Amino acid sequence: MEVRILGAHQSDAIDQHFTTIVVDATLAIDAGSISSALTREEQLRVRDILLTHQHWDHVKDLAGFGFNLMGAGATAAIYCTDQVQQVIRTTLLNSQYWIDFFAGPNPNHPVFVPRRVEPGIEIAVGAYRVVPIPVNHSVPTLGYQLTDPSGHKLYYTGDNGPGCGEFWSAAQPDVLITECTFSNVEADVAAQHGHLCPIFLQESLEVYRARQGYIPRVILVHVNPLHEERIQLEVDEVARRLHAAIEIGRENMLLTV
Ligand SMILES: [Zn+2]
Ligand SMILES: [Zn+2]
Repeated sequence: MEVRILGAHQSDAIDQHFTTIVVDATLAIDAGSISSALTREEQLRVRDILLTHQHWDHVKDLAGFGFNLMGAGATAAIYCTDQVQQVIRTTLLNSQYWIDFFAGPNPNHPVFVPRRVEPGIEIAVGAYRVVPIPVNHSVPTLGYQLTDPSGHKLYYTGDNGPGCGEFWSAAQPDVLITECTFSNVEADVAAQHGHLCPIFLQESLEVYRARQGYIPRVILVHVNPLHEERIQLEVDEVARRLHAAIEIGRENMLLTV
């Protein structure tokens, strides 16, 4: 599968976008930059969006994406828990504020088709088998392992904090995309908010390797630009210690899984 990272940062700027991953141009995971980092034509090719959790940096572009689909008479399936759908519909897509694309604007033909996901229950999304895997974050969060028809596996964890290696062990990916929001200097803040810094990443990968016997290729996103230089140095050190391939992702990075 061809994986394109639209946003690799905990930042929203002309050259840095919130986390969103697009697979084979048609399936997206999270929607922090699904409209701001894609052309309108590219947006209309996206048929399915999997949401990890309701935090604004992961869903905010649903408002613009839905609007563009509406104009084109198109629809998209939105995969999330009932709780995430409820939060989005009462905040971002509240009809006092914008348009509830789950209900309209034409009630007979809403723009967003809701699809419920539940932890550990495998579903088919287009050509992919998808397993939602819960992780530890400040709100309930599901990562997703995608398996394509030829058996290649991508696992994107969503936001998660120290101790997540136990949760990752439910997956066996070729490529692991996870977050590294802070540097080790901010380890306390990272732990408090359910995020990773390089030392927590190392601990989690060690737990993963003990369970699964290997460390997949690792790509890090959700990087806070204020700490990126230090994160890079610390991640390089973790990669050396673990003899693992660990890279910081970047906007428009393309991966073949
Ligand atoms: Zn979050
Ligand atoms: Zn986030």
